[in-house]
Amino acid sequence: MTNADLASENDGKPSKKPKVLVIGAGTCGLRAAEVLIRAGCEVKVLEARDRVGGRIATTTRLGLPLDLGANWIHGNVGNPIIAIAEKVNSSYSIDELDDTIVFAPDGSLLPKRLGDEVVTKMWDYFDEGITYSAQNMPTIQPNVSFMEYYKSKIAAEEGWNEERRTYQLQIADLLGSIVATEIGKQDFRNLHMEEPIPGENLFLSSTYGPVMDLMAETVLKEDGCLELNRPVERVETVRVGGEGQVQRVYTKDGEVYTADAVLCSIPLGSLKQDRVKFDPPIPEKIRQSIKHLGYGSLEKTYITFPKAFWMDGPSYFIFLADSTASDRKTTAAISLAHIAPPHNQPTLLFYTHGATSKHLTSILQFSSPQESRSKILSFFHPYISKLPNYSPSNPDCVPRDYVSTNWLNDEYAGNGSYTNFPVGLVDGVEDVKVIEEGVEGWRVWFCGEHTAPLLGLASVSGAYWAGERAARRCLGAFGMEEEATNV
Ligand SMILES: Cc1cc2nc3c(=O)[nH]c(=O)nc-3n(C[C@H](O)[C@H](O)[C@H](O)COP(=O)(O)OP(=O)(O)OC[C@H]3O[C@@H](n4cnc5c(N)ncnc54)[C@H](O)[C@@H]3O)c2cc1C
Repeated sequence: MTNADLASENDGKPSKKPKVLVIGAGTCGLRAAEVLIRAGCEVKVLEARDRVGGRIATTTRLGLPLDLGANWIHGNVGNPIIAIAEKVNSSYSIDELDDTIVFAPDGSLLPKRLGDEVVTKMWDYFDEGITYSAQNMPTIQPNVSFMEYYKSKIAAEEGWNEERRTYQLQIADLLGSIVATEIGKQDFRNLHMEEPIPGENLFLSSTYGPVMDLMAETVLKEDGCLELNRPVERVETVRVGGEGQVQRVYTKDGEVYTADAVLCSIPLGSLKQDRVKFDPPIPEKIRQSIKHLGYGSLEKTYITFPKAFWMDGPSYFIFLADSTASDRKTTAAISLAHIAPPHNQPTLLFYTHGATSKHLTSILQFSSPQESRSKILSFFHPYISKLPNYSPSNPDCVPRDYVSTNWLNDEYAGNGSYTNFPVGLVDGVEDVKVIEEGVEGWRVWFCGEHTAPLLGLASVSGAYWAGERAARRCLGAFGMEEEATNV
């Protein structure tokens, strides 16, 4: 198709009903599409995978549904995901998962009170660090890691013996499961970008599955709106007529789509790798901001047993690691046996990040399924064998099966989990703004958890807000601000 063809199609001016192509059917893309459809646009969503949801994915491989990506609703105050979860009668766990015990690197159990104090202090340092960086950001040097701040807090504590200081240091890396990297790599100056949405964190025990089904409903109802298995390779902005332009989108299988505007919701990790090419290229300012922000790794391993042999113990286990350990960092496991029926199951959920995630996903990538099973279960055995009531001769203590995620090797997840803020970042807020605002007149916008309002960055709620924001920008460009207010 030539430029002339396109010009004759719509004379280079947006048709009355703007045609918008949304790339990606994750939370952000689906919400953007919903807003645009309700505002009266003609919308097509192109999704690379054979399913919607992106970094929300639910599996029943071990029996009951389990979330492979997001599992928590972070902050229940003013969070739009709560309203959706309520509509599908979701169940949450909050207090059930709070009862914690901490194991030292040698496998011994910390006295309960000491363990609780170490955990509480770790969260205090994190919260205080967020507040400090929010208030003092301009005076904090780039290149200072959160770990340096954390260590300074330990050094300032009075009356602690060496053992207490060591445990406090060893638990620090647990925060890596929040920031999706080792905390020595998390920037301190921009730590305030990790500020959570207010309220409680809810573990969605009924999983994100039904929530995602509802989020996709509008798009699925719209005839021909969603196309699965359509990886986009290239977006071309073609000038036609005087001021006019159209967007052409090329998919891997050779299809070409034209539209008045494009909302590109592929992950930040995919943008960093230029997985979709743009012609003209992404403006330098946006490219730089994409480069500055980080993209982390968080993986989950579920291991299921014939019976929850640990059931009469606590629900949350922390295994400290020596800070010199390479692949085996401080790790935590949640007992899904402790959540309320009917969602309880004899299953443990382990979170890993950074080097440990790399180690586990490289096993998945390079080993046969049988070898992977054996290597991954061996990796977690030292943790399992510490649990209350464990006995090597008890068949209930032998894992029945496992599922381990592999986001790091998933190109459509951008080979990682979500956005983070690496040491050396100068002004992450500005970088998010640059990517989110886009370029005047281009009619291509980037959106996703990486362009969320500050409180929602890197989360499902943020991705949802980001979809709304991008849709409103797009509607604004077509003079449809009024329609945007009613959706
Ligand atoms: C292990 C893990 C645990 C997490 N835990 C939580 C949690 O508990 N709570 C929380 O709030 N958040 C959590 N998150 C983060 C949350 O899942 C994401 O922030 C959110 O789902 C991102 O939504 P999105 O729409 O921005 O991106 P995505 O969901 O990644 O959607 C992007 C879509 O684009 C598609 N795509 C990619 N490339 C192309 C292409 N070339 N062409 C067409 N389509 C393409 C993808 O397939 C995908 O469907 C977690 C993430 C991970 C990985």
